[in-house]
Amino acid sequence: MIPVTKPYLPPISEYQEYLEGIWKRQWLTNNGPLVNELELKVSEFLNVPNFLFMSNGTIALQIAIKALGLKGEIITTPFSYVATTSSIVWEGCKPVFVDIDPYTLNIDPKKIEEAISEKTTAILATHVYGNPCDVEAIQKIASKHKLNVIYDGAHGFGVTFKKKSIFCYGDISTVSFHATKLFHTIEGGGVFTENSELNQKMAYQRNFGHDGPEAFQGLGVNGKNSEFHAAMGLVTLKKIEEIISKRKELSIYYDERLEDLGFKKPKISNQVDYNYGYYPIIFPTEEQLLKCVKKLNRSEIYPRRYFYPSLDQLPYVEKGDFPNTDSISRRILCLPLYFELSFEEVDLICRLIKSVWDHG
Ligand SMILES: *Cc1c(COP(=O)(O)O)cnc(C)c1O
Repeated sequence: MIPVTKPYLPPISEYQEYLEGIWKRQWLTNNGPLVNELELKVSEFLNVPNFLFMSNGTIALQIAIKALGLKGEIITTPFSYVATTSSIVWEGCKPVFVDIDPYTLNIDPKKIEEAISEKTTAILATHVYGNPCDVEAIQKIASKHKLNVIYDGAHGFGVTFKKKSIFCYGDISTVSFHATKLFHTIEGGGVFTENSELNQKMAYQRNFGHDGPEAFQGLGVNGKNSEFHAAMGLVTLKKIEEIISKRKELSIYYDERLEDLGFKKPKISNQVDYNYGYYPIIFPTEEQLLKCVKKLNRSEIYPRRYFYPSLDQLPYVEKGDFPNTDSISRRILCLPLYFELSFEEVDLICRLIKSVWDHG
């Protein structure tokens, strides 16, 4: 079976070494030494000033919205994972969708201004597949209208724009370290901000607001993560460069084998260093995509329709008309891409896709 992704699992002995330390210290969670070490090493690796490790990328989004005190309407993209929209609704705000750019597949900055009302407080955009949004255009609009900017950077680990981590843009960026993501801690995620006051506030918020055992700094929630999850991150972080470079080789191999079929792919700016988190291809029609999926499934190969259906179809949001999102979400398919995928498997996948073409 070839799934769309397989979590990276380090040699078990390396994880065991960390477990022995946990057993010795008997410190399992609540901001332990491994959590601190992971936060430090992640900030060092990405060259960012702050990182707060949390239980997942969804609580990170919720805390980001809460920390900025957002109310009313938040402008967001309909082309993302459900957590981007659900977090807005969960925090009592209203998502206002803006269609995507058909080339980058990220929110189209040219369409943001017409969606701004007097109730708008922020823009929450996703760097789809780790491909950076037009952060400069978005910041210009946000500054002009005094809006906050949150980036859902769930896919953005290791990506840079103009040589700076993509997590340096916006007021707050979130990340997911879920097992299906490029860099993972089984479950996990967190927030990045360059604003140290905001960082301190979110540190309290992820731990019930605790300021010592008996004092509280405002309202909080439980967004902490454990020593066991941090240990997985520490082991995986040592391999991350190897993981990214293997994914790059596999992506180039796919490119070469699929070249004749003329698939469109998301447009990535040449100012970006990409992390090869996903391998999406855009079909000319949904019918061809479905044919292809059927053919691959018969050989136990399971690509995924990220992201389908689009988020404006959710039962708890207002419907709208987003032609680019609608068209792309029906025609885009993520092919299998993970560290242990072999070049032979990519050959097989590409042969099967080609055979659908050759026989109409
Ligand atoms: C995975 C993902 C999330 C949620 O992250 P979790 O760690 O699973 O909670 C949010 N947004 C996007 C775009 C994602 O892909």
